[in-house]
Amino acid sequence: NEEFKVTPWDVTGKVDYAKLIEEFGTEPIDEGILTRWKRITGSIPMALQRKIFFSHRDLNWILDRYEQGEKFVLYTGRGPSGHTHIGHLMPWMFTKYLQDTFDAPLYFQMTDDEKFLYKDSLSLKEAMAFSYENALDVIALGFDPKKTYIFSDLEYNKTLYRIAVQVAKRITFSTAKAVFGFDSSTNIGLIFFTSMQSAPAFLPSVQAGKNVPVLIPHAIDQDPHFRVTRDVAPKLGYYKPAAIHCTFLPSLAGSDKMSASRPETTIYTTDDVKVARKKILGAFTGGRVSVEEQKKLGGVPGVCAVFQYYYYLFEEDGAKLKERERKCMSGEIMCGECKLDLADRVASFLERHQEKREKAGDRIKDFVVSDYS
Ligand code: SF4
Repeated sequence: NEEFKVTPWDVTGKVDYAKLIEEFGTEPIDEGILTRWKRITGSIPMALQRKIFFSHRDLNWILDRYEQGEKFVLYTGRGPSGHTHIGHLMPWMFTKYLQDTFDAPLYFQMTDDEKFLYKDSLSLKEAMAFSYENALDVIALGFDPKKTYIFSDLEYNKTLYRIAVQVAKRITFSTAKAVFGFDSSTNIGLIFFTSMQSAPAFLPSVQAGKNVPVLIPHAIDQDPHFRVTRDVAPKLGYYKPAAIHCTFLPSLAGSDKMSASRPETTIYTTDDVKVARKKILGAFTGGRVSVEEQKKLGGVPGVCAVFQYYYYLFEEDGAKLKERERKCMSGEIMCGECKLDLADRVASFLERHQEKREKAGDRIKDFVVSDYS
């Protein structure tokens, strides 16, 4: 097994998700869950079928509550350290599906405080500006303005802080150190921060004046925070939030997750369409050294970044995905054509998204909640 590392601030190497389930102590999304999901909602979404969302905590519990007529609230978020890339959209799109399917309100947290504390080069002003920019992407995905509350920690701090201090009082430094690996060089803001990330999990209950079940769809790297949240919940008299975890969209370089630190292998929602196309045409593939050899031996979709893009986002039709895989492996399709096809799909997605993103600027007031307006 190749070495990999998954923390809330750093994901490196080729992630072994089965191993992560063991390490983090989460549950896999198994056949039982899928069958139940289908019974309740009528179908199984692509993200669950393909194990893009692959792991959970207490999903059966939240479905029990739902079936007993107790509605749940969704909570997710974003660390606004830069522009949104399409890997970020994946869990948000699934969250949108959850909102539509379960008629669930959504609390969306922008952890601009955390990104300011973590990233040396990021100013407070920049972090807040990215909160705004990233919110445009969230809104562009079509969330319901009547049921979606987007807030930045730095703008909603009065509301969140009153919950966060109650959480903080129940977390010792040694717990924080054990969960997050802090050392003596960690600034004290980061040590406190996990309590701010816990706060929205309890906010719906605080606002309703009674316990409200909360489901957190998020990328698996954030699990350490919510482990802490779940430990503290009963001490404060709240339900433990349930969670459903997704994998990371691989980078165009192939092996690791799409990352803002390597812009040439990452597609941003703000990328010029021509630039995005160029990035895809330069992607790592599972192709052979020559066309002749590829016709003879076929490609290797298992290691191909382009194939992963189809798998994760750009080929919803399972039969068509299988057919592409077959054609690749039998040498019937060459990488050039395959990449061009993906580039077209990404380009048209970006064009549509950017149009909606631009309009989102006028609608931001319908979504954002703040203690200062
Ligand atoms: Fe990847 Fe497509 Fe080439 Fe196969 S043909 S290796 S799927 S780019």
